[in-house]
Amino acid sequence: MERLVLERTRAEAVFTRLLDTHGPQHWWPADTPFEMMVGAVLTQNTRWQNVERALERLRTAEMLNVHIMAALPLDVLAEYLRPVGYYNLKARRLSAFTNWYHDSGGFETLSGLETGCLREALLNVSGIGPETADDILLYAFYRPVFVIDAYTRRLFGRLGLLPAAAAYEQLRAAFEANLSPDAGRYGEYHALIVAHAKHVCRPRPDCSTCCLRGECRLGRG
Ligand code: SF4
Repeated sequence: MERLVLERTRAEAVFTRLLDTHGPQHWWPADTPFEMMVGAVLTQNTRWQNVERALERLRTAEMLNVHIMAALPLDVLAEYLRPVGYYNLKARRLSAFTNWYHDSGGFETLSGLETGCLREALLNVSGIGPETADDILLYAFYRPVFVIDAYTRRLFGRLGLLPAAAAYEQLRAAFEANLSPDAGRYGEYHALIVAHAKHVCRPRPDCSTCCLRGECRLGRG
C-alpha cells in the first residue's frame, strides 16, 4: 500500500481554522456508548434526522438496552426502525451487531482489547464496514483512529492535501501517521470536517464564505 503524506502543519492549521469558525461540535450525540453504536450502525447512507427519530422510538419503548435488543425478533426491531431507509436491512445489521456485542461481553470486556484486535472484531460483524467500525472505536471506545468519509475525501481533495480517490486505509494511515494520537482531537476534527462539508464545502462549494479559501487549491482558482 502506497504511503500518503499529510502535511502536519497544514492539517493542524485546517483544524484550528475550522474550530475557530464552527466551534466545538460536541460529538457524538448519545447518552451511552451503546446508544452511540446503535446510531453509528443506523446512520450508514441515512440522514441523521431519520436516525434520531428511530433512536427516539427505541428510547421511548426502553429498547436502547443491549440485553433487550439482542432478544428482539427481527420483525419487531424493524418496526422501530421504520424512520430510517432500508429498515429491514438495518434491522438485520443492528441485530447482528447487538448479538455480537452482547455475546462478546459488552463494553467492559471489549474495552480490554487492544485497538487493532477490537477493530478486526468489529469488521468481522456482518454489515460493519471500516467507517462504522472507526466511528465506534473513536466515539464509543475513545481510541485514536481517524474516521474517513465522503466529506473528508471531498474537503481534503479540494484543499490539495490528499487524493480524494485513495483507498480508505491509505487515507486513515495518512491522518494517523501525521497527527498526534489524540482521540478527543480526532473526534472534534472529524465532526468539524462534516460540519464544514455540509454547510460550506458542499458539492457546489460556497468558496466566497469559506474560512479555508486562502489555503485551498480549488477556492483560489
Ligand atoms: S475554498 Fe471552496 S473548495 Fe476550498 S475548502 Fe473552501 S469551500 Fe471547499
